Amino acid sequence: MQLIETVAGVKYQVAAWKAAGLTIGLVPTMGSLHEGHESLMDAARAACDKVVVSVFVNPLQFGPDEDYDNYPRDIERDSAICEAHGVDVVFHPTPEEMYGPNYNTYVVMETLTDALCGASRPGHFRGVCTVVNKLFNIAQPDKAFFGQKDAQQLAIIKRMVADLNMNLQVVGCPIVREEDGLAKSSRNTYLSAEERQAALVLSRAIFAGEQAVRAGERNADALKRLMGDIIAAEPLARVDYIEVVDGATMQPVETLGSSVLTAMAVCIGSTRLIDNFIYEEGE
Ligand code: AMP
Repeated sequence: MQLIETVAGVKYQVAAWKAAGLTIGLVPTMGSLHEGHESLMDAARAACDKVVVSVFVNPLQFGPDEDYDNYPRDIERDSAICEAHGVDVVFHPTPEEMYGPNYNTYVVMETLTDALCGASRPGHFRGVCTVVNKLFNIAQPDKAFFGQKDAQQLAIIKRMVADLNMNLQVVGCPIVREEDGLAKSSRNTYLSAEERQAALVLSRAIFAGEQAVRAGERNADALKRLMGDIIAAEPLARVDYIEVVDGATMQPVETLGSSVLTAMAVCIGSTRLIDNFIYEEGE
């Protein structure tokens, strides 16, 4: 496995693979890798000849009051995990390598980025779309793998790839959870023991919502109320949003229809966590 820190280095390797007719899978991450990331690597390994994992804490997608400086970083540990999962290249650039002194180009999407996390984190998806676009140009993947955990991000990347006629397939992978239900996240390391326990309200609310839908609930307000009441019972939790939206457009729905995303962001102390489930009609 190679650890490459320059754009030119990755492009050089990618050109050789392309010349040999090999397919490339890309897994974009911010590092601090866990089993959620590993599931994406395994999916890429199974589907492509060569696998590139990017490990880059992208400053562009953090707001001024967010956790960019404190975001956990450990490239040695991350490289060992990548190696164990058969990754061929870890791309670990510096911010200066990605955004040079005269950097001036950004990818901005319209309405899809206004809802949910986009509403609470202005500029976040501008940062995500820009860095993902750059990573696609650098690694030139045939397939790129993203987690359903960040459901809005996945919908946005799919939209961007379709709108801009990009030559790759976006593959969504299921949410990986801790045994007790909490969705795995690099930010879980911020939680104290007490907060870690309190954080279980997210998955508890998600599972209760899913069960209600399975039992026939189709009213979005009733679903939001049910889930909101569960979160409200936990004193350390503060709801940022609970929304029921169309899975492709991210626009609110009143009644659950063909493909609906129920998503939430909840702060446990100062740590903001997200979770969601998808309802597909006929499932
Ligand atoms: P991040 O490092 O948080 O930017 O995440 C990198 C990729 O891993 C994104 O596509 C995430 O959706 C995905 N991911 C993060 N956590 C999970 C999880 N618990 N299950 C599945 N995918 C995940």
